Amino acid sequence: MALPRTDQMQLDRFLERLDQVAAREIGYPVAFDFDYSALVPFLSFSLNNAGDPFMPMTYLLNSHEFEREVVSFYAQLARAPEGQWWGYVTNGSTEGNLYGLYLARELLPEGIVYFSQDSHYSVGKNLHFLNMRHIMIRSQPNGELDYDDLRETLRIRRDAPPVIFANVGTTMKEARDDIGVIRSILDDLAIESRYIHCDAALCGGYAAFLDPPPAWDFKDGADSIAISGHKFLGSPVPCGIALARRSHVERIGHSVAYIGSVDTTISGSRNGLTPLILWYAIRSLGLEGMRERAQRSLRTAAYAVERFKQAGIGAWRNPQALTVVFPSPPEPVREKWQLASAGGFSHLICMPHVRQEQIDELITDIQSAGGVQQ
Ligand SMILES: *Cc1c(COP(=O)(O)O)cnc(C)c1O
Repeated sequence: MALPRTDQMQLDRFLERLDQVAAREIGYPVAFDFDYSALVPFLSFSLNNAGDPFMPMTYLLNSHEFEREVVSFYAQLARAPEGQWWGYVTNGSTEGNLYGLYLARELLPEGIVYFSQDSHYSVGKNLHFLNMRHIMIRSQPNGELDYDDLRETLRIRRDAPPVIFANVGTTMKEARDDIGVIRSILDDLAIESRYIHCDAALCGGYAAFLDPPPAWDFKDGADSIAISGHKFLGSPVPCGIALARRSHVERIGHSVAYIGSVDTTISGSRNGLTPLILWYAIRSLGLEGMRERAQRSLRTAAYAVERFKQAGIGAWRNPQALTVVFPSPPEPVREKWQLASAGGFSHLICMPHVRQEQIDELITDIQSAGGVQQ
């Protein structure tokens, strides 16, 4: 499969450009500190993980064995009840969130979904796909759900079972909705029929390593959880993990003779390479390696806030967050560092690959461009 020379040149130029832009990527929640070259031989196979990773499958070029290990690892981090959970490797948290909401709808067809203003932009789309009733709840200034607004809204809608879509790590401010608090509000109102989904796209990768850990997992009351694989863990291909209580999943699966498996996932054909990638990262880093990466990232975030303050720029972050929020700098600086911006502020996310020198350079750039509007 050789390429004509001009096409090869196009590829070469693309690679060169990627090297350049990757060196200045500090604005998105994706980790770059990986090397999966040991997995190159597996690119020679048409891997496909269609169907349930826990069931046998007729097509044998699948990596279900690795997928099971990956989801088991995250089930343990998320304190899933022993033997009472199920999960699979998704294409990312948009799919994991769709999956959680789908389970919720099958369980509570009359339910109303409650989610905060700070939820990811894909949530509205997912609700539209599923045609679910929904109500947006106010956020507090730090991006966290406004629990008073939630309580008040739930109180006047007691006829419909609530589906709470909690953000454990909002996209812009990395605020964490507290599932423990949400649960106690539901208990206070004596609402027994309910479902809690946790969108832990970024934070699910390291929440278990925080001290104290946020209230985000199955023990805290989640019914399903979505985590992105390409965010904290790091992957050259977007991917994620969907986890749910087993009893919820049993309501939706049905056998499909064509694949010789059970159809419990959203896609038919599924990526067989991403489970290998996630497995490789988990096994090579180990729990200690992951904890160390989380701590290093938190130190970088603390360093960034301190440096911004020294420069007279009002930056802040939520407790134990990797996301540092600050007033938007001028456009050329936002473009150079690929800084996501909304409502007059920008953020940088101190993922494991982000170095202190990059933060120093960003601050110098902001100062040379005339500072920020505060
Ligand atoms: C990134 C993100 C998503 C979407 O995840 P993908 O893996 O990109 O599909 C959803 N929710 C939150 C809070 C996110 O940060």
